Amino acid sequence: MAGSIEPIANMTAALSHLPGIGPKSAQRLAYHIATMPLEEVRNLATTIWQSRKNIRFCQKCGNYTTGELCEICADDRRSTEQICVVRDPRDVSAIERMHEFQGVYHVLQGTLSPMDGVGPEDIRIRELMERLRENHVQEVILATNPDVEGEATATYIARLIKPMGIRVTRIAHGIPVGADLEYADEVTLSRAMEGRREM
Ligand SMILES: [Zn+2]
Repeated sequence: MAGSIEPIANMTAALSHLPGIGPKSAQRLAYHIATMPLEEVRNLATTIWQSRKNIRFCQKCGNYTTGELCEICADDRRSTEQICVVRDPRDVSAIERMHEFQGVYHVLQGTLSPMDGVGPEDIRIRELMERLRENHVQEVILATNPDVEGEATATYIARLIKPMGIRVTRIAHGIPVGADLEYADEVTLSRAMEGRREM
């Protein structure tokens, strides 16, 4: 970045790797950090590092956790007969905000995307099939985003599950196509869930 010293340029470059932070915002943040007391900057960096270090994946569902199991899988009041399949942990938070769904989740940690070289073995489909074989599951709700990749992923998984005699449903298109599940408001999400259809 012309006119800025190396440490500013380095911070700018590092910050611009974050989603939604363009070069201009990154530079603004870098200049702001330069004015912060050293101790405060250390706390910020340490908090991010420590927190990140403590994030693990739930051994059952793939959601974020700090222990072996996430709080949802560890809660025996949740029904394990209904599994809601989502793309990532943010979607779990979005659905949990409705306080309606009583089942458990399966986090794929991605969606099928042949263009980006993401195939079935790159996301947690095998783990899902294992769970379905080993547990008594009545319904799998496919709640991947209503975009091209989310639909392709839902279709692919539905084809695998159908022969097992388990009910497979897809959330309704209450959410605008291309929109992210995590940004849908509770009412929209609620309707999408209620209006789910058989696949
Ligand atoms: Zn879990």
